[in-house]
Amino acid sequence: MMPKLTLQPAARGLGMTGQRARDRLVQRLREQGIRDERVLLAMATLPRHQFIDEALASRAYEDTALPIGRGQTISQPWVVARMTEALIEHGLPRQVLEVGTGSGYQAAVLATLGLQVHTVERIEELLRDARRRFRQLGLDIRSRHDDGRLGWAEHAPFDAILVTAGGAALEPALLGQLAEGGSLVAPVGAGTGQRLLRLRRVEGGISEQDLGAVVFVPLLAGLC
Ligand code: SAH
Repeated sequence: MMPKLTLQPAARGLGMTGQRARDRLVQRLREQGIRDERVLLAMATLPRHQFIDEALASRAYEDTALPIGRGQTISQPWVVARMTEALIEHGLPRQVLEVGTGSGYQAAVLATLGLQVHTVERIEELLRDARRRFRQLGLDIRSRHDDGRLGWAEHAPFDAILVTAGGAALEPALLGQLAEGGSLVAPVGAGTGQRLLRLRRVEGGISEQDLGAVVFVPLLAGLC
């Protein structure tokens, strides 16, 4: 059951930020191989333009990453769709952890799917903006200013973990907070050699699948 979003009037209408713009983006995502109707519906519903600066709002429904300040980016819609699809493919998780809140858009997509979202961000300023967006849209998302490489022990284990910044290696603490049967999706690898990996905790072991090449901002230590 999808939670009801509080949409601003402008998000319902026409123009560069209206429903038609979102529908066109979703059509494009379909053409690019996104199949999960739940993900497509969530992305057709969520006003992505509210997650970026007003000066860039007219580009919100292009399939591209955009700057959100502090050297960070809101991920490309296709990447958000693909990661979300990969995360829920083996069943809809209940408790989800996202590392790297950024604009809050990815967390909002997960919450729109009806999941219990926990998200961690190391840059306080970005987190503050994301929290304001969650409030405006009426989304119930738990968030924390911390180094997400450590996960969020108090709420573990998670049925799904999504990392939206690229580390040189997988974080063992995150894997430790993954529930039995759960999936972890993360970009792993240094520089231009990043791969999107999906790890699943199954029958006492860990299975690993390579979902292809990706480019994410780096997963960094420390808070600011
Ligand atoms: N999911 C975001 C994508 C943001 S880009 C969105 O939908 O907009 C990745 C984010 O990860 C950045 O905001 C960056 O500050 C954050 N990040 C990088 N290293 C981190 C860490 N160790 N802990 C938490 N957040 C981190």
